[in-house]
Amino acid sequence: MAPQGIAEAALSGLRDELAGEAIAPGDAGYGEARAVFNSMIERRPAVIVQCQSQADVARAIRFGRENDLEIAVRGGGHSVAGMALSDGGIVIDLRRMHEVSVDPASRAARVGGGATMSHLDRAAQPFDLATTGGRVSTTGVGGFTLGGGSGWLERKFGLACDNLIAVELVTADGSVVHASEDENPDLFWALHGGGGNFGVATSITLQLHGLAEFSMMLLLFPPALGAETTRAYRDFIDSAPDEVGGGVIYLTGPPEDFVPEDMVGKLACAVLVTYAGPEQAARKVAAPLLGLGHRAELIAQLPYADLQCMLDDPPGLRNYWSAEYLETFPDEAVGAFCARADDMIVPSASQHVLFPLGGALARGPSQYPVPWRASPWVVHPFGLWDDAEDDERGKQWVRDVRADVKPWSTGAVYLNFIGNEGGDRVVAGFGTGNYERLTEVKRRYDPDNVFHLNHNIKPE
Ligand code: FAD
Repeated sequence: MAPQGIAEAALSGLRDELAGEAIAPGDAGYGEARAVFNSMIERRPAVIVQCQSQADVARAIRFGRENDLEIAVRGGGHSVAGMALSDGGIVIDLRRMHEVSVDPASRAARVGGGATMSHLDRAAQPFDLATTGGRVSTTGVGGFTLGGGSGWLERKFGLACDNLIAVELVTADGSVVHASEDENPDLFWALHGGGGNFGVATSITLQLHGLAEFSMMLLLFPPALGAETTRAYRDFIDSAPDEVGGGVIYLTGPPEDFVPEDMVGKLACAVLVTYAGPEQAARKVAAPLLGLGHRAELIAQLPYADLQCMLDDPPGLRNYWSAEYLETFPDEAVGAFCARADDMIVPSASQHVLFPLGGALARGPSQYPVPWRASPWVVHPFGLWDDAEDDERGKQWVRDVRADVKPWSTGAVYLNFIGNEGGDRVVAGFGTGNYERLTEVKRRYDPDNVFHLNHNIKPE
């Protein structure tokens, strides 16, 4: 059955030309094809093109434009605002394009536009190589990297976008464009944070780094010790080496063997230390944290790719998140951060997160439109719950966290950590001066704003 607005003949012509598939309402698999990570998003595209090749992507763009369909581009489907879907439009679904090839000699990975972190991490792990990835394995490499890309390894290897070597894009007119330091350098610059504004990335080449040994420590504290623990963590990070990543995360005590029964299902304050090195060295570095009186611990040396999927959240939950980047994190800010943990929905998959920045991330290239890289801390309320009745409560908690830490905020925004929060936040996501330059690049590659289901850079 052809969806309303698309003639049967046009749809069948599209199907004939695709190596992949076009799925319309009523077709088998339509429900699965339109589901994204955030179950609050309820949109019904007129057609979902599951692209198999770069030619499919170009065909889908042309089809969308010829039929006046709003175009969405889907990678991992993790955008909290559901930007991977258009209501009544066309979705260019890249998930079948997930191939990864690793060249151990040059330490580079060429990644398909629809690959997830898991595809990348698992392909690089056998060579003891890795690069900064998202903190779960199911996030799309495309949306993550082009938006900046923050992860456990950023203090050691910089942001994901700092590791971009080249991007191959299909642009709004269906042509293929290469971007690197040497080819279309302005576009390459814009792809460091500018997201999907300039075209569909069908392949992304990333720098990898040697990572033969990797360790983690998860220490659980009762929430009554939260403020004291967070202050100690802050002081620890001040002089921690670049190998250290992690954060303070208030969460619901998980039903795992290492968690005492009385902490399961209850609010807990977790300190996570990731360490780009062996366990013995991690223990030595993190000694000040190990003496704070935690009640549960999980300490292990493990392949980085295994840690990456340890904290995977289940899809299908209701999502609402935001973030504030902080200039300083004095005791008063610690108090504000910790006090608001009491309002989290517990039990739930929500996380009340404090991540440290610094290290290679702070020292990284300052010319890119990533104004938040200079902040030392980010507070990231990450609300995930399952009952629609909790929607207002969950959203209010996120807003309250932001308001509480606002006095220390730099005002810079990491757009991958927020939903639709208005045009001012988008400009703050790039930095005012950068935004002007981004609009010039946008005008060159997408003057009609075909790709606008994103944190949009308007061409005019
Ligand atoms: P999608 O919803 O598919 O896409 C997001 C945006 O990117 C859309 O506008 C889409 O059109 C565009 N896009 C995607 N792929 C391409 C492509 N190949 N070419 C052009 N445009 C494209 N972020 C972090 O930085 N660090 C984290 O640790 C982190 N953890 C997360 C954990 C969870 C559980 C979730 C749900 C998200 C997390 N994020 C994290 C946020 C994540 O980086 C963003 O939501 C990102 O935009 C997701 O990309 P995606 O491809 O999965 O999503």
